[in-house]
Parts: sequence; structure tokens; C-alpha cells
Amino acid sequence: MRQSQLFTKTRKDAPKDEVAKNAELLIRAGYIHKEMAGVYSYLPLGLRVMNKIATIIRQEINALGGQEILMTALQDKNLWEKTGRWSDKVLDVWFKTKLKNDTELGLGSTHEEEITALMRDYVRSFRDLPVYAYQLQTKFRNEARAKSGIMRSREFLMKDLYSFSKDDAEHSVFYEKAKISYKNIFNKAGIGERTYLTYAAGGSFSKYSHEFQTVTPAGEDTIYICEKCHVAVNEEIRDEQKTCPHCENADLKKEKAVEVGNIFNLGTKFSEALDLAYVDEKGEKKFVVMGCYGIGPGRLMGTIVESLSDEKGIVWPESVAPFKIHLISIPDKEGKVAHYADKLYQTLVDKGIEVLYDDRDTRAGEKFADSDLIGIPYRVVVSDKTMAEGKLELKDRKSGTVEKIEEKELYGK
Ligand code: ATP
Ligand code: MG
Repeated sequence: MRQSQLFTKTRKDAPKDEVAKNAELLIRAGYIHKEMAGVYSYLPLGLRVMNKIATIIRQEINALGGQEILMTALQDKNLWEKTGRWSDKVLDVWFKTKLKNDTELGLGSTHEEEITALMRDYVRSFRDLPVYAYQLQTKFRNEARAKSGIMRSREFLMKDLYSFSKDDAEHSVFYEKAKISYKNIFNKAGIGERTYLTYAAGGSFSKYSHEFQTVTPAGEDTIYICEKCHVAVNEEIRDEQKTCPHCENADLKKEKAVEVGNIFNLGTKFSEALDLAYVDEKGEKKFVVMGCYGIGPGRLMGTIVESLSDEKGIVWPESVAPFKIHLISIPDKEGKVAHYADKLYQTLVDKGIEVLYDDRDTRAGEKFADSDLIGIPYRVVVSDKTMAEGKLELKDRKSGTVEKIEEKELYGK
């Protein structure tokens, strides 16, 4: 993409009403636009990152056997009354609305009720199980505080996966596989090392649920890490779990962290309330055993920015970067540089290499500062000087290393 055609512009100053580093950098670099507190639009660069994150998630969840669906944001009050969660006292993040005839509806903050009711139409016998269904869908939550940028917004994308199993044993096998998929997702997204499988409160069906917590000073949670096992305990259950759940090490390290994902055994809570049952091999009626598995792609994006940026701007891991290469031309008077850079840009595009081409008529210093702010992994500069040498200047955004390379070396990057 030609940067001269990108309608977003970078900004030097941080937005005054924004305290979170992720929102500040993402707004300055032109990834997101703030509509109001806790509500953000994704711009061309930002949407590319979100789509990359979504692709990583889809690959892993599809490999787990997940089938992608898309459910509605409008939700039926009757279902939520059956599980006792319609009340604002029980679920304090509700956005509710009304039809013209005064019938109340909810704007979905999660989808356990809907998907349990949906599955009643398709699950009858043991032969229909297990089933794994997921979506990437917009959730609405009336969050009390919205000071963490896209890490806690009031309208956000969630990947929510739900599992439907015949019994606890079948559920557990899938639950353990889901843990591995989640690890893979956070590894691929570049925050694996600082993301910990964290033991948290479990509800009525298991002792624990599991969160995936990424260590960052911007986190709202506190966790206690066992460095040996690379697992942690959430502060909320610290009283009942004072040691590492794996090796009983008592020397746990306290850190601030953000929950980027979680997995939860729902047991038969929803299937009993909404009558999702099947007939087993012996002809007996059994309630389906459920699990839910969430990840917020926006929160993940914000967490990557919080964790990996430096004083100059964002540093994207290649896997989620909006483009792989930021090609920058420093035009000369005769137009030789622009001519060559245009050709190089076209070759990269033809080879299917994702490139943002800074073809703007702007000072070199401004182009470099913008490039650091935007954070694309490889910066390639074409100037009078590089052309005289017959080479390209390649800078690695993460390490800052600069080297001179031949054009063909770039294609192997
Ligand atoms: P938190 O305790 O941080 O509010 P939660 O327990 O409410 O999180 P879930 O309901 O389990 O979160 O949602 C699943 C995932 O969706 C979370 O792990 C997180 O990645 C993401 N998520 C939750 N709330 C938000 C939000 N307000 N903005 C962006 N992402 C969110
Ligand atoms: Mg919440």
C-alpha cells in the first residue's frame, strides 16, 4: 500500500484524554480512532493487525475441531431469565434495549445462553457429541472503568469457543487440548514468553479455571508466578493456593498482568437451566457438559503494544504486523530514487510480500520517525546514497540493527 494514499495520518502529540500507552501509541500511529471513552474504531492499519490476530486464532481453533459460526448481538431476555443472569445485580455489565412494542432485549456480553439454546436444535443423541463451536463476534459490556484503551473497551471483538461433551472425561480431554492451543496462539502472537497459564477461581464445577495472563505494568490483575513451571496463581485465589499448583514451590513472584484469554469448565450449569440434553447409549437422558474459552483480539493487540513498544513507538512481531516491510524512498531532484523505489515496490507486491511504501513528499526525518512509531518489522530505505552503492539499507525495528543488502536478499526475508 502506498502511504500517500493512506487516509490516516500520524500525530506527534498524545491525545489528552488517553492514559493508556496502548491507546496513545495506536491513536498516534493511526491504527485506531477513539469514538468515546472505551469505544474505538479500527482504521486500515489497525484492522490489518486485528485480521492477522484473528487468522492465528482461527488456525489454532480450527485445528482443535472448532466450527466457526456467527451469532447475533441482540439477545433474548427469556433465555437469560432461565439462567438467572438477566438481572443487572447478577451481571453488572449489561447494555439493554427495547423493541418498539417494549419487549426488552440484551446486547450480548457473552453467548453461553444463546449457544446452549441453539444446540438444543441439533444435539439429540450421544452420536451428536462432542461439538465445538466458536465465533469472532462483537461484545457489548458496560465496563465501569475504561482507562486501559483497547485492553478494556465497551464494545469489543471476542473469540468465544464453547465445547459440548458427553461427560466430564470427554470434557477434560478437550479442555487440556484447548490449553495447548491457547499457548500456541500467544506464542505465535509474540507474547508467549511473558504469558502465564494462571490458576483462577473455578466456579461450581471445578476447583480452578485457567486464565492466560500476560505480565505488563498496564495489567489490572495481580498474579504470583512460578518461574520454574511457567505458571501462575491469580491473587483472587491466593488464600487457598499459596504455592505453585505444579511443583509446590512457595517462592512465587508477584507481578501485574492482563488476562488475554481464559478457559472455564461450565459443567451442566447452562445445559440444566436451558435443558440441553442427549440420550446416551443406554437410552438415558443426560445433560451436556460444557466449557467456554475466550480471547479478546483487541485486548491481545493492546497487550502486544504495551509489552513490546519502546520510546520511539510500536514494535510489532512479524506475525501480527500490518505489513512486513516499510519501504521508504528519500526522493532526489531528478526522480531517479522515486523511479527505482516505485519499481521495487511493484516487485514486492507482485511477489506477495506485504509492504507499506512511504512515497510521500516529506522530510526524511519525519519518515523515519513515523516508521519507528508505526513499528513495521523491516524498514528499507532507498536514497541517492543507497543507489550509488547499488544496495538497500535494511533496519530491523526490534533490534535497531542496520545493514546494507542486495535487492534480492530482501525477497528472502
Ligand atoms: P476481566 O476480568 O478482565 O474483565 P473477564 O473475565 O470479564 O475479563 P471474559 O468474560 O472471560 O473476561 O472474556 C473473555 C476474554 O475477552 C478475556 O479473556 C479478554 O481477553 C477479553 N475481554 C473481556 N473484557 C474485555 C473488554 N472490556 N475489552 C476487551 N477485551 C475484553
Ligand atoms: Mg470483565
